[in-house]
Amino acid sequence: MTTLDDRPGTAPLGGPGLPQEIRLRTEVPGPVSRELAARRTGAVSAAVGSAMPFYAAAAGGGVVVDVDGNSFADLGSGIAVTTVGNAAPHVVEAVGEQVARFTHTCFMITPYDSYVEVAEELNRATPGEHAKRTALFTSGAEAVENAVKIARAHTGRQAVVVFDHAYHGRTNLTMAMTAKNMPYKNGFGPFAPEVYRAPLSYPFRDGLDGPAAAARALDLVEKQVGAANVAAIVIEPIQGEGGFIVPAAGFLPAIADWARAHGVVLVADEVQSGFARTGAMFACEHEGVVPDLVTTAKGIAGGLPLSAVTGRAEIMDAPVTGGLGGTYGGNPAACAAALAAMRTVREEGLVERAAHVGDVLQRRLRALAEADPRVGDVRGRGAMVAAELVAPGTTTPDAALAKRVAAAAAQRGVIVLTCGTDGNVLRFLPPLTMPDALLEEALDVLDAVFADDRAEHGSATAASTAVTAED
Ligand code: PMP
Repeated sequence: MTTLDDRPGTAPLGGPGLPQEIRLRTEVPGPVSRELAARRTGAVSAAVGSAMPFYAAAAGGGVVVDVDGNSFADLGSGIAVTTVGNAAPHVVEAVGEQVARFTHTCFMITPYDSYVEVAEELNRATPGEHAKRTALFTSGAEAVENAVKIARAHTGRQAVVVFDHAYHGRTNLTMAMTAKNMPYKNGFGPFAPEVYRAPLSYPFRDGLDGPAAAARALDLVEKQVGAANVAAIVIEPIQGEGGFIVPAAGFLPAIADWARAHGVVLVADEVQSGFARTGAMFACEHEGVVPDLVTTAKGIAGGLPLSAVTGRAEIMDAPVTGGLGGTYGGNPAACAAALAAMRTVREEGLVERAAHVGDVLQRRLRALAEADPRVGDVRGRGAMVAAELVAPGTTTPDAALAKRVAAAAAQRGVIVLTCGTDGNVLRFLPPLTMPDALLEEALDVLDAVFADDRAEHGSATAASTAVTAED
């Protein structure tokens, strides 16, 4: 088999042609990764972290191959980005053609067709049959920030309502909207004003049904902010960084009804949950919710930086002409990639594929929860699935276990990401191009990691420690 070592000076090409296997040739990290890590220490800000200790050389299908020739099963998709696969053939081809024609003109100076076509595609794909418009940006945070600007321009109001456990980005406004202090906000204030946080529906922890959880949140908004002051409610239909929290049935529709009744712009932040990930094109479709604005990024362009705000024409057209934009917003290479990614979703039936991947993940993780009482909750929709780790029989978070499992899985050739306000959630969001056999193999590794951890730490460690401490 050809590896980096066999072909000095050449990197393997990525894409689905890479062998779809877990293959460890060196210890993890290997010597080449260790050398890069040493260089990095002297060159890259220590404030930028990396979850994995190895450096990428190629990726495709469901694997990431590192610079030492090790092949890892990828259960994270670079945080929900490579939904259509890494170095996906249509994307590679379209970007190559585009950059050979022109790399940039700036849509605000000399516009081009692919921007218009991406807008048309997003207008069609997002929920609702009403007239829509789209504006393109570069990062998810930028899309969220612009959605707030648009909602304020449309309503003439200022307040923005967000939720517990929310993650919306790292710019000043989106930091204010993000819930978790460490590491996203710590020491970075002062934050933008007029951002108000309401309690979310979190079935594993609050035991409330959807309408009751919505009433709790909306009562607080009415009393503490006042409906007439609210420009927008921004909500992730399934929370991403906050812990893959699926609100109880009826929560999102109740929030949407209230927003409509009070002239508040409902913004669905689908940056992580959108674009085929959940077994629907957009996660709010699972509850028939039609948001006024939808923010998208991550998966929409197969790995190139692109984001969008899409929504009701009269809201999107509210800011003054020239009020929205940015040098790179809707970069032509990213637009070409997005059109290719959309084509891939259609041609390869990836919405249906996400539902299938989700079935496999749920079946395997529920079996794991039976075997290991530290897996307190398995939840998600489609290929956006989480396992929340707790002291057995309680909701007390066990972040140390999540950290140990992710590190041990990497040592055995599987990339697993963590999330959650308490850092105690494992999240599973593989590329939808991962073959079933590799997915099952990766989950076998995860089972073995949990079994070994149980043998070493005992399955009741966290619970008994907590009880002992309180006694
Ligand atoms: N919103 C959500 C729901 C996200 O998950 C993220 C990224 N994790 C963002 C916004 C910010 O996106 P970006 O990192 O591209 O700025």
